[in-house]
Amino acid sequence: MFLSVQGEYATYIGALVDNAAHGIIAFFSWCIVCEIHVRRDLIDGVLCGVIACAVDIDHFIAAKSFKLQDALQLNHRPFLHTMTVVFIVVPILQVWLAQNNYFLRSLPYVFAVAVISHHLRDGNRRGLWFWPLGSTPPVPYWIYICCTVALPFIVKETKANIDKLTVIPIAKQNAVLLDV
Ligand SMILES: [Zn+2]
Repeated sequence: MFLSVQGEYATYIGALVDNAAHGIIAFFSWCIVCEIHVRRDLIDGVLCGVIACAVDIDHFIAAKSFKLQDALQLNHRPFLHTMTVVFIVVPILQVWLAQNNYFLRSLPYVFAVAVISHHLRDGNRRGLWFWPLGSTPPVPYWIYICCTVALPFIVKETKANIDKLTVIPIAKQNAVLLDV
């Protein structure tokens, strides 16, 4: 009895620690992306961590159960665990939310860092899943580490380049002011 309770307890603790690790990695990855200049960057970092943790909710949705045992015994990978989600959701967030709402301007990048860092960590055990093409073999540990370290720097560079494209040149800004 004691052993079975301990075993069950260990499963819960293991799942909690595993999920928290996703959040912590995503939080620090976002801190590298934005370098924490203002409090808003910290909020985005927390959001990044929360999204990275929330990805595992699909285990429960796919299992149609709130029980951890059911969620852990799936014989297929649940839908949020495919990289394809990033390619679908990020452009949607960019076009519908980030471009129209200044407060949500970083959301596509936050989402990308959260989900990709989660997939990389899971990929170390189960490979990366690119629906509908299929999955890679498990990602070797050193590749997982390199990709996880490189991810925030790649996103930071991409974000900086895209931000440069969307900034209105000074001459044009003056023209707009004169028009007014
Ligand atoms: Zn996962």
